[in-house]
Amino acid sequence: MNHPSLTSPLSTLGAGVLLALAGCRSNPASAEAVLPVPLDAHSHAEPNRVRVRHVDLDLTVDFAARVASGRVELDLVRLDPSAPLVLDALALEIQDATGSDGTPRDFTLAPPDELLGSALTIELEPWDDSVVVRYATTPASEAMQWLTPEQTRDGTHPFLFTQGESILTRSWIPLQDSPGVRVTYAARIRVPDGLTAVMSAEQLGLEDGVWRFRMERPIPPYLIALGVGRLEFRALSARCGVWAEPSFVDAAAAELEDTEAMVRSAEKLFGPYRWGRYDMLVLPPAFPYGGMENPRLTFLTPTMFAGDKSLVSLIAHELAHSWSGNLVTNATWRDFWLNEGTTTYFEQRIMEEVYGPARSEMEQQLGYEGLVRSKAEMDPRDTVLFIDLSGRHPDEGSTDVPYEKGALFLRRLEQLFGRERFDEFLTEYFDANAFRSITTPEFEAYLRAHLLASDPARAAGVDVEEWLYEPGLPADAPRPASAELARVDEALRLLGSAATSAELDTDGWVTQQWLHFLEGMPADLTAERMAELDATFAFTASDNDEILAVWLRLAIAHGYAAADERLELFLMTVGRRKFLQPLYTELAKTESGKLRAHQIYAQARPRYHSVSTGTIDDILDWERGDSE
Ligand SMILES: [Zn+2]
Repeated sequence: MNHPSLTSPLSTLGAGVLLALAGCRSNPASAEAVLPVPLDAHSHAEPNRVRVRHVDLDLTVDFAARVASGRVELDLVRLDPSAPLVLDALALEIQDATGSDGTPRDFTLAPPDELLGSALTIELEPWDDSVVVRYATTPASEAMQWLTPEQTRDGTHPFLFTQGESILTRSWIPLQDSPGVRVTYAARIRVPDGLTAVMSAEQLGLEDGVWRFRMERPIPPYLIALGVGRLEFRALSARCGVWAEPSFVDAAAAELEDTEAMVRSAEKLFGPYRWGRYDMLVLPPAFPYGGMENPRLTFLTPTMFAGDKSLVSLIAHELAHSWSGNLVTNATWRDFWLNEGTTTYFEQRIMEEVYGPARSEMEQQLGYEGLVRSKAEMDPRDTVLFIDLSGRHPDEGSTDVPYEKGALFLRRLEQLFGRERFDEFLTEYFDANAFRSITTPEFEAYLRAHLLASDPARAAGVDVEEWLYEPGLPADAPRPASAELARVDEALRLLGSAATSAELDTDGWVTQQWLHFLEGMPADLTAERMAELDATFAFTASDNDEILAVWLRLAIAHGYAAADERLELFLMTVGRRKFLQPLYTELAKTESGKLRAHQIYAQARPRYHSVSTGTIDDILDWERGDSE
């Protein structure tokens, strides 16, 4: 079988590059930075010729104009002395470029590629070991979302946040926007009086109206992140805390009180937390993700705050990324499962440590069932862990597959080798590859050398090539089963034999059980039955957004009109893609539903981040410019 693991990543580099790299190894100052970077189909950069290794940002944030402007200084390693510097840039206004002696350098901004944006090529003089680019973002800079005061919780001040993953950092900073290129960074950010700037870095404080930051550990560019708003901070422990709008910061701190316990559990499982502080920033509901693992400062959706800690597995997930993703990073977006599958497995282990096996088993089973449902509707080629994304946007690979199939692969290895041996392996893996970006074939080689080779008899129980390079779910995939969810299956059976909802034994049910209950509703569910369920359990009035989102999808599918108003309010206020995608998909299944979706979307679209509109535009065949 011919698959990509048979090709060494080095073989994709030209001989000239290897020579340049070899030559460069004699220079101890840049020894760390010159490991070859694998080819990345989603970047114009040529990091094996000239490599950016440090980013120094100086920006002023202008809420009225919705732009940030200033300069970025990039420190370079010159692997090929004759090569220009090639950067990624998207929707940026480039003013000028200067070399390390402060004199101008010629540059060209190529016409934008539809997926990747432009290549920004800067000619270098032989002595240049840095360049300065003066630039401004534009309102089309997709990483940045500018919110009016009305779109925040408190309604008093505007808000700005950036979302870099996967390939959006290039829309607010011109740089080599490939996860294989690791950089340290420093930043000086000016914001209007009364607002606070926070970043995925060590905060050095406010000095002469300038917020200062420093990240001394090399990170992939998608993890550079900025938030600006009216924010307050609450400490949760000596190294953990939360930033949120003033009216919410105490409630947020209460819901997140177990954070320190999670960090300790994670360290006990897989080695030290290496980033110093672990803080969190609660964003307005427009945030397109559940959470984003920006180092030292996880960005969070407010939709995870259910008031009862029932959705805090999200924190376990983002925290786990401090190892899988931020410490050991997918080298290209084909390798996304290395970030997400490992993190999902790690998240389940943290949940087990902090909240017990029953909670973790419920979450594993829900994840498995979600995978089975979505896999049934996917093109088989997209169910491969080492997915082929050439010619496509990386976000098309962000499905249940890298998360859940990836986690099942690690779970299978744990089953075969035993927990103790597998934990030892993962701990060594994080340590050996710390602050590196690796490919799936490199992971495979590491796995074979450090786990499989140590016990060939056990290794024979798993077909690694099938797991990594073939579509579908291998026959040996573990099948999580939760006794708590079996109770729910019993209730569903009763309901199927025409019991009224009041007769069901739902005593003590938690969020995960309610989710399983709603996902298990029969295909012939009627609006009358929904009304009866609603009268008993008040789903339409739920303030748990996970439960509400599933209920609203059922309401669309089965014509339960009493939830219409709640649906519209939800779509107008929440921007989290995970919720929007199934709701708009369900609406688009009928002509009348699609018409209604278009009416809602015309108003709601300006409130969503580009990550979400990129997905919903496709679902609704929305032409940019339609009724905007
Ligand atoms: Zn994740």
